[in-house]
This record gives sequence, structure tokens and C-alpha cells, in this order.
Amino acid sequence: MSATAEAPKKTTKRIPWSFDNETQLLQYQNVHTVCEESRCPNRHECSSLGIATFLIGGRECTRACKFCHIATAKPVPLATIAEKEHDDILRAAIAGKYDYLVITSVARDDDEAGLAAHFARITRSLRAEGITVELLIPDFHNRAEHLAVIAEAGPAVIAHNLETVERLSPSIRPQAAYERSLQLFKDLKAAWPKIIRKSAFMVGLGESDGEVQQLLNDMKSASIDIVSIGQYLRPSAEQAEVVKIYTASEFEELEQSVVARDFLAHEVGPFVRSSYMAKDTLAKLNAE
Ligand code: SF4
Ligand code: SF4
Repeated sequence: MSATAEAPKKTTKRIPWSFDNETQLLQYQNVHTVCEESRCPNRHECSSLGIATFLIGGRECTRACKFCHIATAKPVPLATIAEKEHDDILRAAIAGKYDYLVITSVARDDDEAGLAAHFARITRSLRAEGITVELLIPDFHNRAEHLAVIAEAGPAVIAHNLETVERLSPSIRPQAAYERSLQLFKDLKAAWPKIIRKSAFMVGLGESDGEVQQLLNDMKSASIDIVSIGQYLRPSAEQAEVVKIYTASEFEELEQSVVARDFLAHEVGPFVRSSYMAKDTLAKLNAE
């Protein structure tokens, strides 16, 4: 199936790209957002609401997931960019008057200790400004010392995406591992039970309904609290093809499958991504 020909159209009642003022626009000049790097279909809606997901660790990733638009290349040494990234993000966060931010990174398999410390330092600095922080992290090969550095910095939410069902995981995210990703959540639950655990996956990559049900079972068994499910949309001709576009009623069925498993919160829909309406999702959860 051609993704470009049959992809659903994003509609929003909000005004696209209506930054409150010039300062808010300028704040983005020095920071990279995953919204742009991944060509997220929600970027007009989110930017109109002053929502963004900041990307750290540079712009090149050491991994090559088949759905992802971020460039794969040997990255510049993290130590040469970390200080500036930290300062730029802090400046942008303060200028934008954020009270909730999602921070994610490329994978830095060349310097996982450095990336964990970078996540932690940014989290502490943002929290010192009264900003609630959600982190979307790579798997860090489940090394407990790296997870500890990040968790001890005090993020409200730690997210890590399963991305797809077990059978497709080796081809879609070849440097990751399905079981390793699940284990990350079990480790988090055991050591830092108060941190909310969140994961997202895409549909439309060729998974069967049975495989999706198994994935949801595995997510529940791994103590994941928040589940996000969205339609895979091919960012460019270089990424994996879309195998299926889910209908609205199929998304409703998917949502029922999530509800039946009694996760704490969920976002399910064609354009849902891990960070989509992240602040609202956590607020709903805290209100209950
Ligand atoms: Fe950015 Fe997340 Fe919104 Fe996409 S859903 S535009 S990645 S904040
Ligand atoms: Fe993209 Fe993350 Fe995979 Fe890197 S690890 S290619 S940033 S999805």
C-alpha cells in the first residue's frame, strides 16, 4: 500500500503555527525538536498549543530503525555538544514559560553513560525551574547504572517505546530487543515505583490482531501505566512501507482492547504519538 496516497488527513480546529509572540518562535532556533526531525503529523497542532518534544544527544542516531526519519550516522562526541544543548533547552523552556516538557534523545550507543548524565542534568535543571519533566529514553541496554542516574533525577514519567509487535521488532528496530524493552519497565517498577511508566507502538506495519493483543498483554505484565497507539505513517520513501491504514472503527476496537486491560491511561488514534498531549494525559491520570 502506498502510504502517501492513502494516509489519513490530519485535521485540527486549532490555528497552525500561531506562536503567541516572536519570542516563543525564536526560542526554537537553538533547540532541535523531534516534532520536526521525525516529521510528526501533529506538529502544527502541537506548536499552536506551545507544545514540543525537545531532542537531545545531537541530530544523528547510532541506530537505524526502519520507521524513523532521524539520520543514522556516527555522531559528534556527546561531550562536545552537551553543555550547549543543556543551556539552549533551559533557555527555551524558560522563555516559553513551559510547565511540562517532554525530552527525548537519539540513541547514543557510543556513550550511554554520557547520555544518561545528560538526561539527568537537564531534568534537574528543568525541575529547578518548576517544570514537570517526561523523558522518552532509549533502552540503555538495560544497564542498571544508567537507568539509576536518570530515575534519580526525578522525572514524573519515563517513557520507552515498544514501537511494534514482537515478530516485527527485529526488522523494524534491529538494534533494539523486544524483551529488553519490556525488562526496562520491570526494572523501573522494582526500583522506582512512583515514576509513571509509559510506552507507545504503531499499527500499520504488518502486525496481526493477535500479535497486537499479545503486545498489550506483555505491556500490562511489564507494569506499563500509560499506553499510546497510533497509525504508522511513512516519513519518506526511505522508511518502511505502510502495510495497512487502520479505519476509525478499528482504532475504536484497539482502544477497547486497551481499556479492557485497565491501564492507568491511554491515547489511541491515527495521529497519536508517544508525546501527544502528554501533559493532558498525566493530568487526567493524577485527577483520578
Ligand atoms: Fe511533537 Fe509529540 Fe506533538 Fe508530535 S505529538 S508534534 S512529537 S509534541
Ligand atoms: Fe530513531 Fe530512536 Fe531508532 Fe534512533 S533509536 S533511529 S532516534 S527511533
